[in-house]
Order: sequence, then structure tokens, then C-alpha cells
Amino acid sequence: MRHLLDLSTADLESWLESQGEPRYRAAQVRKWLYERRAGEFGEMSDLPKRLRSTLETEFQLWTSEVAATHRAADGTEKLVLTLHDGHRIECVLLRDGIRRTICISTQVGCAMGCVFCASGLDGVVRNLSTGEILEQMLRLSRLLPTDERLSHIVVMGMGEPLANLKNLLPALALATAPTGLGISARRITISTVGLPEAIRRLAAENVPYHLAVSLHAPDDVLRNRLVPVNASIGVAAILAAADEFFAATGRRVTFEYVLLADLNDGPEQARQLVKLLAGRPSLLNVIPFNPVAGLPYRTPSDEAIAQFRRILESGGINVMFRQRKGDKINAACGQLRRSLPPPPTVTPVASHG
Ligand code: SAH
Repeated sequence: MRHLLDLSTADLESWLESQGEPRYRAAQVRKWLYERRAGEFGEMSDLPKRLRSTLETEFQLWTSEVAATHRAADGTEKLVLTLHDGHRIECVLLRDGIRRTICISTQVGCAMGCVFCASGLDGVVRNLSTGEILEQMLRLSRLLPTDERLSHIVVMGMGEPLANLKNLLPALALATAPTGLGISARRITISTVGLPEAIRRLAAENVPYHLAVSLHAPDDVLRNRLVPVNASIGVAAILAAADEFFAATGRRVTFEYVLLADLNDGPEQARQLVKLLAGRPSLLNVIPFNPVAGLPYRTPSDEAIAQFRRILESGGINVMFRQRKGDKINAACGQLRRSLPPPPTVTPVASHG
């Protein structure tokens, strides 16, 4: 059976036509999914009964199952989803004032190999489909009361989004469409390890989303250690691509920097960062490491963080120190998935997406 969420609007319209139904039914289906948060075709009461039952026999609305739900005291909720092939992914709803932000995954696992990240410890298995990305959004929106709406999306879950733009961009197009989730494109952030070619593609296509680049180190020697994929890329090429993105879109790039005790949190790195980012219209987002079971890295002390911050601020860098949310429920990338017992049926996959 096909995943309904994998169909583009045009696909859905032509399927409806093949059923002898008017094309406007596609808009009705969308409204049920994105606005009314329907859980099954049977709820779509303004569709003819016969159409509802054909939809039911031809399409799956949900292809995943919720393997676990965790809720933290701060309102953060995290879902672990088991996909049709038994693999697991994670997605998160964060409540912050009036913001309702979701963090979504784009791949099963990750190939980038960042040494401190739980998502990539077992490598990448495959890309998520457009439907699987949309399904995360819809499942998370269904956690909200009817008078609340999703306001922001961060593509910061498992996987490297720029390695799966083919499936991500159509999903984001529906997230922003007025007939979809209606989320403003300016409230969507794609976070990347820093793949220059793909960043330049986003710049050339002038995608309306915000870009965040996970920097984590000011020079190649250190970055190669923390982000192994850097060995074939290099900080200079990433910054050049980020500059191009800003020049093309006028949207300043966020650089993310996970602070790891005694590795990249010293005054020397802070001074190097000042040199690197001075004069670049950007924002540096510093995130204290969220401990991952089995990994030897540590969160820096409050004093080390404060010193790091002082150097950046007095260097005139536009810097934000992010608060950790949901860390009691392992909300950092890929952590919760690893804390569960293995799923009963995982189909081994040979090719990497
Ligand atoms: N692959 C993309 C997006 C997923 S990771 C990227 O690299 O940006 C999203 C962010 O979470 C990245 O900045 C990543 O470095 C960070 N992150 C991963 N593990 C973390 C941990 N244990 N503590 C804090 N941040 C972490």
C-alpha cells in the first residue's frame, strides 16, 4: 500500500480524477490532515463514503507506530517511531512560551560521524521518505490541543538534512503551504554539518528557510577530530558556502557550537572563533554538550562556559547560549532511540542513502 503522505498535490489530484472524483477533493483531504488533524480516513466526513473506503484500501495514512512517548517537566515531548521496516527514528515537540517548535529527523541514523552525537554511532541506514518526514510533523501536531498550532520547525533530529534534500524540500513545502501546516518559512531552520555543495544549491535556489551550520571547532585540526567528515571538506570551504548563502538570500547563517569540556571550550578556541566570525553577519549558537550514555565527553563547568561567553561577547560576536530543553528525556539527537530495547524486526539494509 502506498503512503498517502508521499503523494504530491498533483499526484493526489490525478489519483482522484482516476476515481471519477473532482480535483478539489485533494484540498479537502489536506484540510483534514493538516488543519483538523484527522487520525483516519473514516473521519473525513465531507468526502463521499465510497471515496473514504477506496482511500482506506489503497493508501496507508500512517506507516509508523509510536514505540515510546516521553514527556519532560518543561513540556517537551519526544516520540520514538518504528518505521514500516522496523527501524526507529525520533522527533520532538518543544514548548517555549507561545512557541510550539518541532524537531524532526531526515534519515535513519547518520553518516557524518560527529564523535559526540548519539545519532551517528551506528552509521546511516537510509533516507526518510517525504511521507515519513511529514508523518513526524503530523504526529507531533496531534499532541497539541486544538487551539494550539505548530509555530516553528527545526530540522535537527537524526540524520544530515542536506544529504536528503530530495525528500526534505517537498515535505517543507507542505509545512509552509497555506493548505498544509501554514508555518512561515522564516520559522523553519535546517541544520547541517556543513556540506558546501548543498549549501550553495540552497543559496542558488533561494530557499526561504533559515540555515544553521554545525561548526563545533574554529580550525580544521580540531574539527577533523570532532566532525570526521570535515577532513574532506574543511572550515574555509564551509564558511565560503555560508557567505554565499547570506549573499544570495540576505538571511544570516547560524553557527552551532556544542561545547565539550577540555576539547573545544578553551579561551584559545573562543579567541579563534572571534577572528573567524568577526565581520560575518551571523549568529553563534553555543550549546552545552548533552551527555550521551557510553560516550566519554563531558559538559563544561559553569565557569568555563562563562569565560567562553565573555571572550566572544567582548569580541563583538553575536552569540546566543542555548538553554537545554528536554535533557531529562534524552532529547538530544538519537539518544532515546538507543535507550530502548532493539525492535523485533529490523530488516538489514545494505545500501546507504
Ligand atoms: N546533521 C545535522 C543536523 C542534526 S544534529 C547537523 O549536524 O547539524 C543537530 C545539532 O545537534 C547539531 O548541531 C549537533 O552537533 C547537535 N548535537 C548532536 N549531539 C549532541 C549532544 N549530545 N549534545 C548537544 N548537541 C548535540
